[in-house]
Amino acid sequence: MKGYAMLGIEKTGWIEKNRPKCGGMDAIVRPIAVSPCSSDIHTVYAGALGERHNLILGHEAIGEVVETGNLVRDFSVGDRVIVPAITPDWNSAEAQDGYSMHSKGMLSGWKFSNHKDGVFAEFFHVNDADGNLAHLPVGIDSASAVMLADMVPTGFHGVELAQVKFGDNVCVIGIGPVGLMAVVGAKLRGAADIFAVGSRPECVRVAKELGATQIINYKDGDIAKQILELTNGKGVDKVIIAGGDNDTFAQAVTMLKPGGIIGNVNYLGEGTTIRIPRSEWGCGMGHKTIAGGLMPGGRRRMERLASMIVAGRIDPGILLTHRFQGMEYIEEALELMREKPSELIKPVVIF
Ligand code: NDP
Ligand code: ZN
Repeated sequence: MKGYAMLGIEKTGWIEKNRPKCGGMDAIVRPIAVSPCSSDIHTVYAGALGERHNLILGHEAIGEVVETGNLVRDFSVGDRVIVPAITPDWNSAEAQDGYSMHSKGMLSGWKFSNHKDGVFAEFFHVNDADGNLAHLPVGIDSASAVMLADMVPTGFHGVELAQVKFGDNVCVIGIGPVGLMAVVGAKLRGAADIFAVGSRPECVRVAKELGATQIINYKDGDIAKQILELTNGKGVDKVIIAGGDNDTFAQAVTMLKPGGIIGNVNYLGEGTTIRIPRSEWGCGMGHKTIAGGLMPGGRRRMERLASMIVAGRIDPGILLTHRFQGMEYIEEALELMREKPSELIKPVVIF
């Protein structure tokens, strides 16, 4: 089969591989639609996962089941399915402890284009099919449904980590597709003011449409200072980090009220340490909590989020600024994610 792969750090290309084999609890899926992610860019160009050779990229897909193992109960050949980016081993100790995303080791629930070939191929393998696949409800647009694989649950996980409550003032740092979904999640959870940090005009426009009450441009100066000015020096109850760099943490701590919580879903790609400003953190006694996490993945999460589309509560199709028809466009779509032109939020490739 054909797949679009990381050939080495900073190198990508089409390769041929054998079709993956299906274990008893597994499924083999043919993609219907896929989307490249900022994480694919970190993997290839920042070497985030270290050196990888001929590893097929991609972890955001919906598809059609073409083969199932003899122990799979709920899925059959021909079923159209949502495939979460994170596909944990549900019988692991970590999953039983509530940390499915770390099943069998830290971050190891993330398997596609990390521990095994990803979804940018004619076929891909899904472990624990009953635990990880979800039936795609009839009537949901396939391209929008791809956003359920990673963008919606990751943005929402930031909101979960920050424990957003009714009436919270929230700052969402970063309004790429992940941060925009965090804006949606914060609004659904009853946030009062939502300050959204970003600069690209299309992201800013959509952030406002989705419920951001104020836009902060990080290029206009220190965002903590801007937030403190806008809140009469009080700061915000919750911060969700979905973009920025290592300094963003210090800014998040600074803009947070005592008792506040930071939910980070951003990938921190540089340096060996993260700076926490001492006095702004209450000299260690400020009750300012920092939580960071990988999206948990799994079937029930996909089913719940899909039901929110069906019920008209969310429309992640709003993220799709670029649609391509044909597997060969994966290369172009990935390149767009690298360049991040001003009009881009998220591309999708329909097979
Ligand atoms: P994007 O690159 O599309 O968005 C990043 C956002 O951060 C943009 O709004 C950008 O602004 C903003 N930004 C950039 N620099 C700064 C800065 N110095 N201060 C404040 N804001 C800044 O990323 P995605 O939305 O695709 O992904 C966000 C992050 O989430 C990535 O790191 C990705 O790897 C990670 N991720 C994590 C997952 C998880 O499970 N935890 C899963 C998937 C992704 P501008 O408008 O100027 O571009
Ligand atoms: Zn992703």
